[in-house]
Amino acid sequence: MRNNYIYDVVIVGGGTTGLYTSFYTKLRKMTTLLIEATSDFGGKVAQFYPEKHIYDVGAHPVVSGEELVGRLLEQSQSAEPEVVTGEFVEQIRKRENDIFEVETNSGKLYMARTIILASGMGTYQMKPLRLTEAPLYEGKNLHYHLKSPEKFRDLRVTVYAMNRTGIDWAMALEKTAKEVVLLNQQDYFLYTPPQVIEALEKTSIQVKYNHKVTKLMGNSRGLHTLFVDQDGMEMMYETDALLYYENVNLTQTPFISWGIETDKNKVLVDHGMATNVPGIFAAGDAVQYPKKNMLIATGFTEAITAVNSAKLYLDPSASAQVYSTIEYQKNRG
Ligand SMILES: Cc1cc2nc3c(=O)[nH]c(=O)nc-3n(C[C@H](O)[C@H](O)[C@H](O)COP(=O)(O)OP(=O)(O)OC[C@H]3O[C@@H](n4cnc5c(N)ncnc54)[C@H](O)[C@@H]3O)c2cc1C
Repeated sequence: MRNNYIYDVVIVGGGTTGLYTSFYTKLRKMTTLLIEATSDFGGKVAQFYPEKHIYDVGAHPVVSGEELVGRLLEQSQSAEPEVVTGEFVEQIRKRENDIFEVETNSGKLYMARTIILASGMGTYQMKPLRLTEAPLYEGKNLHYHLKSPEKFRDLRVTVYAMNRTGIDWAMALEKTAKEVVLLNQQDYFLYTPPQVIEALEKTSIQVKYNHKVTKLMGNSRGLHTLFVDQDGMEMMYETDALLYYENVNLTQTPFISWGIETDKNKVLVDHGMATNVPGIFAAGDAVQYPKKNMLIATGFTEAITAVNSAKLYLDPSASAQVYSTIEYQKNRG
């Protein structure tokens, strides 16, 4: 990333919409910086359902969340946008010369002629396991996401959760792990229809109700033993990895403080995906308009519209759209 460089566009958010936007801006020959708050791309798909099958994205009869994000990343990287990860955009200001200043939580400033907001509703942080020793094992073998069941191949895995997400993770892990134990501190699973429980009962997953994890024990490589309380009786379980899910906290993107009109913290846009601030456009789950669908494919088409609008904002004589990409590889640059 270049110092004091003024990009044609800064894209805020590297979820499915932002990744696709960062490919499409190349098609319109716009210099691009993509800023993602977390360390990973893919947004909600990567964070909440990488292991699940998705059936409603055109040309993919079925695709896992992980694979879809991988393909979007590949498409984005083919366009070589500049990228920044691990920085949350906190402020966007328009200077008198119509250049936007984008400030992140690391105190860094980036400059652009246009902005495309692809930040969904913000960033989600998984609630951590509230045991004093838990931080010792985070980043080792205590996980708050199931990114890829493949990483747990042939391991003994424990999932600790009270709701449907824990069941989904356990069922995905059953395909790769040597053994899956599902601990629930209650005697039922929240937000879970009976047919899911029936499906769970047909698996080899060892489901243990009223089991509360009270202590973790391990070494420098990670945790290896869970202390579990069942109705006042203490037991120990050996495990190679622990996945914990309780809930998420949402940090909302502060659109209003950037002068952007919103409805329930979603950005109001016109049919060109323009916000009320000239030069700022938006796409994906971040936006709101009548009959809006919050879907991956919707984000892709909105991204195309937002990029085309940004292009016309920069150069009113530009063509309204790219009519065909069949010559794209030949004409790149
Ligand atoms: C459980 C579940 C199942 C779903 N199933 C389907 C399905 O089967 N089919 C389908 O089409 N859709 C499905 N959806 C909806 C789909 O996931 C969303 O429509 C899609 O993920 C929206 O993508 P996005 O990139 O617009 O937003 P997000 O995925 O929310 O990505 C936004 C990104 O912006 C980043 N960000 C936020 N604020 C900032 C900031 N200030 N600075 C920098 N970065 C920031 C975030 O970290 C995130 O990476 C499902 C959703 C859920 C929750």
